[in-house]
Amino acid sequence: MKKALQIPVNSIPETGRELHLELGPEWFARWREEDPGLEFASGEIAGTVRLEKHGGRDILVRGKLKGSLNLTCSRCLEAFTAPVAAAFDLLLVPGPETITAQGEELTTADLDLDYYAGEVVDLERLLREQIILMVPLKPLCAEDCRGLCPRCGANRNRESCGCPEIKAAGPLAGLAKPKV
Ligand SMILES: [Zn+2]
Ligand SMILES: [Zn+2]
Repeated sequence: MKKALQIPVNSIPETGRELHLELGPEWFARWREEDPGLEFASGEIAGTVRLEKHGGRDILVRGKLKGSLNLTCSRCLEAFTAPVAAAFDLLLVPGPETITAQGEELTTADLDLDYYAGEVVDLERLLREQIILMVPLKPLCAEDCRGLCPRCGANRNRESCGCPEIKAAGPLAGLAKPKV
């Protein structure tokens, strides 16, 4: 299958090239096919990416992404939709195999560095990386999600199962528990 979003370096004019993106369920489905371990189901992301030649061989990629991702709550395990947004600046330098011998020094230390290989910018890969960065480490469907009952597994956002509350564990809680 033809890889999407491969931007030939020679298609980037001196004035830069701007792309408008709409990444919908189909795009996410293809990603999931290639990467079954992906931890979110789908999403809708729209954005703009601007590619500019920088210095001799480097390429500056500036992007803005906004939309939503379908995540799984880390407390109650329910699916939910989270709004996400991100802006990024990446400086792509030629991959190790194309770097010239004189080892030019990079003065743009505040930019994230990445590589491009050959004569093509793999925008697909860059976008996937940026989207993964937008996923929270512990996704929560709501700030005050009550999670699952540790005794019976009921979703406490939806029902009160009536199990006795387990006392909030302080640092010494384990020590005070009587051994039965
Ligand atoms: Zn939740
Ligand atoms: Zn319960």
